Amino acid sequence: MARTCVGIVGAGPAGLVLAHLLADQGVESVVLERQSRSHVERRVRAGLLEHRTVELLEAHGLAERLRARGQVHRGVELRFDGRRHRIAYADLYGGRHMVVYAQQELVADLIRLWIARGGGIAFEAERVTLHGLEGERPEIRYAVGGRGERLACDFVAGCDGFHGVSRGSIPAGALTVHDQRLPFAWVGVLAEVAPSTDEIIYANHARGFAGHMLRSSTVSRFYLQTEPDDPIESWPDERIWAELQRRLATSDGWKLREGPVLEKNVTDMRSFVVEPMQFGRLFLAGDAAHIVPPTGAKGLNLAVADARVLADAIVRQVRASDSSGLAAYSDTCLRRVWRVQEFSSWMTWLVHRIPDGPGADLRRRLQRAQLEYLCASPAAGASFAENYVGIADV
Ligand SMILES: Cc1cc2nc3c(=O)[nH]c(=O)nc-3n(C[C@H](O)[C@H](O)[C@H](O)COP(=O)(O)OP(=O)(O)OC[C@H]3O[C@@H](n4cnc5c(N)ncnc54)[C@H](O)[C@@H]3O)c2cc1C
Repeated sequence: MARTCVGIVGAGPAGLVLAHLLADQGVESVVLERQSRSHVERRVRAGLLEHRTVELLEAHGLAERLRARGQVHRGVELRFDGRRHRIAYADLYGGRHMVVYAQQELVADLIRLWIARGGGIAFEAERVTLHGLEGERPEIRYAVGGRGERLACDFVAGCDGFHGVSRGSIPAGALTVHDQRLPFAWVGVLAEVAPSTDEIIYANHARGFAGHMLRSSTVSRFYLQTEPDDPIESWPDERIWAELQRRLATSDGWKLREGPVLEKNVTDMRSFVVEPMQFGRLFLAGDAAHIVPPTGAKGLNLAVADARVLADAIVRQVRASDSSGLAAYSDTCLRRVWRVQEFSSWMTWLVHRIPDGPGADLRRRLQRAQLEYLCASPAAGASFAENYVGIADV
């Protein structure tokens, strides 16, 4: 049976950053990934990195391509009533900025660098199961190309996302689950067209939210609010562009460029947290433990923040037999997770069309008051900036 110190399930941002941070401190790990390398390097997801995420990647020599190709952002645009309002978050928050860099590019960088440093990784690892989590020597069983493998570890890191096996390996009753589906969903669109803006746009419109995000000089990302469970078939390309044109329109003649749609899908929104993020020697990190509504672009950043805390805690245990970091792992991460849940939920209700129903008119008036306050008040802008760019110490 093969042996390692940390068996990491999942080669997403959480698992790969954890592997690198551990290796920098001389702690060995092996990463097991269900999908092929080309699949994870092409999977389109997030794209907005907090300054703290970028700083961490830089400090560990993982940001060379990100720095060369990522775009620095210092402000965001809110639109309502056809008017544009810029929130200069970098000015409001000590110069801290964000970087736009596609998640699949970051994952590709992390995998390339991991393989280059001789790190262990198995792609297309099937039927992963976790054993002996409450004992001293947990074991991961899996199969590659039909052949069964066993990996003995000191610790297991469950970094396998919302649909992975790690969380489900914890006995029912050992976790408290907080789960709420929101009455919103997004049609996510990737289009081959130069962006029509220099900064991300969040538009609150009577027909529903529209977002114009950035990816590169030739590819743009858009989001349109729709109903949960709406099939993507009800969104032909012509309807997507017509809705984007309507919802993003301004009274000052701003123009939206159109181009071929490369990818589109519907994503439901939920707030989900399990507590604690640990069972025996299994530690959950990233989407395996929590999902935030995507409006504040926080999921990837939270996954990296968990990986940092977990790496520090394991290193202290392995190098100094100090178990305090591991004992505090869940509480340390959850403080940030709940802060980010609250902000992501607040921002989601701020920019989406409130669904019809009892109290909807009142909520819409309150939403308008919040939007106007946020755009007029430097204090409100500073609070938004701190949360959007990422609170340094939670
Ligand atoms: C469609 C979509 C769009 C998103 N858009 C945004 C956005 O715009 N902004 C934002 O901030 N966040 C967004 N997110 C969220 C963000 O991408 C995630 O929060 C982030 O990927 C979390 O990283 P992670 O490493 O925890 O999990 P993941 O990136 O999900 O990585 C988990 C890895 O584990 C692997 N895995 C799963 N099961 C197994 C198994 N049984 N065995 C082995 N490996 C397994 C998966 O293949 C995957 O590679 C989006 C997510 C989705 C799904």
